[in-house]
Formats: sequence, C-alpha cells, structure tokens
Amino acid sequence: MRTPLLGADNPPVAPQTLAVANQKGGVGKTTTTINVGAALAEMGRRVLVVDVDAQANATSGLGVARSAVEMSTYDVIVNGRPIDDVRIPTVVPGLDLVPADLSLAGAEIEMIDLPMRERRLAMALDGLTDAFDYVLIDCPPSLGLLTINAATAAEGLLVPIQCEFYALEGLGLLTHTLELLHRELNPTLRIAGIVMTLFDGRLALAHQVVEEVRSHFPELLLTPLIPRNVRLSEAPSHGLPISLYDPTCRGAAAYAELAVNLDQRLMRSLTGEPTGAALGVTW
Ligand code: ADP
Ligand code: MG
Repeated sequence: MRTPLLGADNPPVAPQTLAVANQKGGVGKTTTTINVGAALAEMGRRVLVVDVDAQANATSGLGVARSAVEMSTYDVIVNGRPIDDVRIPTVVPGLDLVPADLSLAGAEIEMIDLPMRERRLAMALDGLTDAFDYVLIDCPPSLGLLTINAATAAEGLLVPIQCEFYALEGLGLLTHTLELLHRELNPTLRIAGIVMTLFDGRLALAHQVVEEVRSHFPELLLTPLIPRNVRLSEAPSHGLPISLYDPTCRGAAAYAELAVNLDQRLMRSLTGEPTGAALGVTW
C-alpha cells in the first residue's frame, strides 16, 4: 500500500523522533511502533525504530531473531556506541532497527552512575549520519530511566491507550512524570498523539473509554481507532509487520490510515501550518 506522499511538493524533512510510551504493559506500544513504522516506510518515509525494551518484542516482530543481535540499544546507551554501528536493516525496505536484547534488563541500574544518564539516547541520536524522516522509540512498560531517555530524545510522544476500563487510570501518572520531564529535561516535548488500541466496537465499554479520552484530549486523539484484530497479534510471531503479513486485514488498513494521518499532522506542524492544539500542548 504505497501512498504517493513524497515528491517535489512533499520533500523529506528533518527527522521527527517519537517515543511510543505508556507505563502500562499490553496496551499496544510495540504493535503500534512496528506497524506505524512499517506503514510510514511503505509511504516512502525513511524510518528508524529503536527498541528500548529488554523484552525485544519490536526486534523479533520486525524479523530479527534474538540470536542474531550482536550489538543492541544497550551498547548505544550504556557503552556509547554510535547508532550507525548498531542499526541493521529489517524485512521492511526503508526501515532500520536498533535492536534490543536482554542486556537492557540491567541497563537502568548500570546507568545510575553514568554521566548524562538521562540524555544518553538523545546524544546517540544526535550522532546519526543517515537521514531519517522518523525515529520511533519503543519504550518498556515503566517510567524508568530507559523511558526517560526515550522521552528526552523525542520531540513527541505517541501514547497508545487500550480501549478498556482502566485505560485512563495510568494516564495521571504518565502526565505527572511528563510534567517533571518537561520541566527538567525536555522543555519542547509535545504529545504527538494518542492511539486508541484493541478497540472492540461490540462493547459499550470500549465506546465509553474512547469518548472519555476524546473529552479529555480532543485534539490529541488520532484516527482511526485500532480494532482488536487477531491478525495483528499473529504477525509478530512470523517476524512481520501487519502490512506484510496480511495487508488486507482490518488491522493493516487501520494502521496504514493512522500512519497517513500522523504523517500529515507532523508534516503540517513542521511547515508551520496550524495543527490545532495537537502539537502545541505542553506539559
Ligand atoms: P505493549 O508493547 O504495550 O506491551 P503490545 O503491542 O506488545 O503491547 O501488545 C500486547 C499484546 O496484545 C500482544 O500480544 C499483541 O500482539 C496484542 N495486540 C496488540 N494490539 C492488538 C490489536 N489491535 N488486536 C489484537 N491484538 C493486539
Ligand atoms: Mg512492548
């Protein structure tokens, strides 16, 4: 599914770095990172996915076996390895990956005594020599130093929220942490958008959660809603994004459309056109 977004009228611009973050597990961070990343690459954007979660689900979901990882995000963040030494191509043309591995599990403790411990990923990304349009950082399900590194390196946060009852509960903590982050480490951080995931339209509750998020953050809710779709949960075990695993399923269509909408929103913000409050919201 190629969208002719690139061309003389729509040249690539400076990379947009987005941290895909929510301290809750199982809300669709990794699924969103993989599939938005792949969809953007298929639109002709150059995309770098950085896997910052020791579980390495984005890494395996993009077809890179754990045993094949020689250097990882750990080497970048803890050992100061240049990203250019660590990033590898994936099954998706135009999408490179900085893979994760289990060594990241101990990274937060090892980082405590390192200089610039909150900015190590930001510094590494500053050293990228290749031109990427987007850097997507898949965060772990916590608000520890790795997520803080991601949010410090990012211009925007992409926040997946599962369409269920407790979805909003964790948002207060996220908001509080990001207020701190905004004040102390990254004053220009914005919310690039909220992605509603695992939406089951048959459930009244799912509609209620969407309405609640819409009423709290009307400018930030990205469309479309991402449906609960079994094909989306199968694709990672085949090491493929949904666009390659089953391009005609509802999940593939939803992520493709979401990527187009996100791209348009972010590109408008770069060219100075009004984007509503979406990117103007500060914490
Ligand atoms: P997180 O990274 O936030 O922990 P994941 O993206 O790994 O969340 O998703 C958690 C689980 O739910 C995974 O097994 C994933 O395959 C599945 N999943 C995520 N989004 C969907 C969806 N829209 N439909 C069906 N299953 C999904
Ligand atoms: Mg994950």
